Amino acid sequence: MLIGCPKEIKNQEYRVGMTPAAAREAVVHGHQVIIETGAGAGAGFGDELYQAAGAEIVATAAEVFARAEMVVKVKEPQASERAQLREGQVLFTYLHLAPDPEQTKDLLASGVTAIAYETVTDARGGLPLLAPMSEVAGRLAPQVGAWALQKANGGRGVLLGGVPGVGPAEVVVIGGGVVGTNAARVAAGMGAHVTVLDRSLDRLRYLDDVFGGQIGTRYASQANTEELVATADMVVGAVLIAGAAAPKLVTRAQLSEMKPGAVVVDVAIDQGGCFETSRATTHDDPIYIVDGIVHYCVANMPGAVARSSTIALGNATLPFLIALADKGWRDACRDDPHLLAGLNTHSGKLTNFAVGQALEIDV
Ligand code: NAD
Repeated sequence: MLIGCPKEIKNQEYRVGMTPAAAREAVVHGHQVIIETGAGAGAGFGDELYQAAGAEIVATAAEVFARAEMVVKVKEPQASERAQLREGQVLFTYLHLAPDPEQTKDLLASGVTAIAYETVTDARGGLPLLAPMSEVAGRLAPQVGAWALQKANGGRGVLLGGVPGVGPAEVVVIGGGVVGTNAARVAAGMGAHVTVLDRSLDRLRYLDDVFGGQIGTRYASQANTEELVATADMVVGAVLIAGAAAPKLVTRAQLSEMKPGAVVVDVAIDQGGCFETSRATTHDDPIYIVDGIVHYCVANMPGAVARSSTIALGNATLPFLIALADKGWRDACRDDPHLLAGLNTHSGKLTNFAVGQALEIDV
């Protein structure tokens, strides 16, 4: 199969759909790989690394879209990219169609077979192509929160780990899933005193077991949430209710109960955020202050560490990419119901039930 990878064109997107390692793997499996020149530069992968892996570098995205039987990307195709997709071609990337009728209309009109990373499933009911980005965002959260706690950024001027004779910062993580577990791990590693709140007792049992007393766990009742948020130096918002907007767990009124200069890192902002006062920010201007509380609400946190994110995403997508290339999309999806769950559009038809429900389109 001829696999093509264009440079991402969405604003501030430095990740790339294929690493040189992915290109090498595809070539070893007997496939041909074309990469747009400069596609990997933002993640630190120069053209020469792809060439060494056996890929061909092409001058334009237009050539990638024209020649490739399967286009591999990171972000949903932008309008100019969608115009180049065609029937019989496979698109493998993040799509997030449910809130995006324009993109859905264009993909259906193109006839492309679109497989969305975010709806591929695994045997444990997880989302294996979303998890690596949650791991990245979770591990980044205490890092950016520690920066925001510095006085010059409006924070309390508190060092996460304290020093001998000075206590550590209090970090509260709301939601102990993939983001929350990784945030807790890094915050504890930096020496903070960490408590994780969750509504799932099973999840709290797991965290208690895994961290062996290194972090505290509390049930996420309203009373516990209010009590812990009020005494925190940093609160990480990491809840998810699948397919729904994030619940607002901390109201504006509760901000006034918090310590002045405390920091909120609302990772759940891509689902609307779990603080009433959250609004999405960008890497250029990541923080703002409401009632003395510093808010960090960047919706695409993994973009800040494009190289790590690209490699993490590439590790997760590679087995699916190879299956699609080796078997063709039909047999690959027939053999693997979890990959089939990723199929969102084919030949002008919507094939994902949840997306159809959200957009009121027949599936
Ligand atoms: P996950 O499903 O692994 O974990 C969510 C956890 O929230 C679960 O353990 C669940 O029990 C818990 N939860 C649900 N409702 C709760 C409540 N009311 N109180 C306390 N806990 C509750 O999800 P995840 O992968 O960890 O993702 C968390 C959020 O981070 C999602 O909104 C996701 O979209 C977002 N995210 C954002 C970025 C970014 O760049 N900002 C990157 C990756 C993920």
